[in-house]
Amino acid sequence: MTANLLDYDLEGLAAFCEGLGEKRFRATQLFRWIHQKGATDFAQMTDLAKSLREKLPASAHIPSLKVVSRHDSADGTIKWLFDVGAGDVIETVFIPESDRGTLCISSQAGCAVGCRFCSTGHQGFSRNLTTAEIIGQLWFAEHFLRLHLSRSDRVVSNVVMMGMGEPLQNYSQLLPALRVMLDDHAYGLSRRRVTVSTSGVVPMMDRLAKDCPVALAVSLHAPEDALRSNLVPLNKKYPIAELLDACGRYQGAAPRDFITFEYCMLDGVNDQAEHAHQLVALMREHAVSGLSCKFNLIPFNPFPASGLKRSGMPQVMVFAKILMDAGMVTTVRKTRGDDIDAACGQLAGDVQDRTGVQQRMATQRQGMLKGIKVVSREVGV
Ligand code: SAH
Ligand code: SF4
Repeated sequence: MTANLLDYDLEGLAAFCEGLGEKRFRATQLFRWIHQKGATDFAQMTDLAKSLREKLPASAHIPSLKVVSRHDSADGTIKWLFDVGAGDVIETVFIPESDRGTLCISSQAGCAVGCRFCSTGHQGFSRNLTTAEIIGQLWFAEHFLRLHLSRSDRVVSNVVMMGMGEPLQNYSQLLPALRVMLDDHAYGLSRRRVTVSTSGVVPMMDRLAKDCPVALAVSLHAPEDALRSNLVPLNKKYPIAELLDACGRYQGAAPRDFITFEYCMLDGVNDQAEHAHQLVALMREHAVSGLSCKFNLIPFNPFPASGLKRSGMPQVMVFAKILMDAGMVTTVRKTRGDDIDAACGQLAGDVQDRTGVQQRMATQRQGMLKGIKVVSREVGV
């Protein structure tokens, strides 16, 4: 087996070069060829020492992800489906705006958290992506888009880990990928332009704060534990108070940064005025410990198996106004790429359910309707 060079951050690549009997600094040149130029052919890398260029083909490769399909939305959003083997398909979405280009990246094939409003959650968990598969999405998109848009400068200016999967349940593979995103010899993104979104894996939030404090988005979705546990089963393990304490600690490592709380607006479930008032009270309680945050209200993207509905816009506005009147910075997310199913929670909706989780969720839903206590899966870190 030859090494997949997309698996390495600069430190890893330096160790790899040393293993070949080469000087560590050669890794920087190689790293630039791979990530800044998108090169896959070692013969192209003309400024590399000839000895290294000759050794590399036998010991390493730079494989592109396999594209299953590409969909271009009328609003400029582009969605790729990549085949990562054994029937697993992941999604990556590029969202162009006037002042930025955001890439939404997947971290896992499927997801074990099983949120009720998320189609990835309904598919169940298949496997963690490797570092190469995570960074490979940026590598592919950046170099594809440069060609496609005939640009020589950087196209992707922001990365959000908001595709399929719970990034903090795949920490060991995520961390080197984040380091590549930030490295000046690779993509050189500032840590405020890389966002990890989490459903609240508390211990790993602490690890991330220490190792690589990029921007953090926390998927809150409810102001109290009973409702949140129902929507985001991981809440049973890490309830709201623990989660908000972890947010406070995170800010200690990334001072002056906001934490973004994501709140998916579900008609009649979590979108009532009383929920907004509860949320204000909750945040006031935690603001005492210095938590500064903003809210992002996300219109729910419905899918049939969820049994849930998108909140009406007037209701979203009432909710937003309560938060804003209380002095909380609040935005309502525009949905992009609706026509190509690229909006949140719709990713790879056509992937087969191989774990029977859809059946379990449907049973849970019936239980809910009858007012029976819902039993949910235990989720480990
Ligand atoms: N697992 C991580 C990151 C991926 S999900 C997390 O949960 O944060 C990215 C965002 O999409 C989360 O805020 C999630 O709540 C939201 N989301 C999931 N399904 C959605 C849906 N059907 N409609 C709108 N937002 C959704
Ligand atoms: Fe997983 Fe995030 Fe979807 Fe929840 S919302 S099931 S954590 S991907």
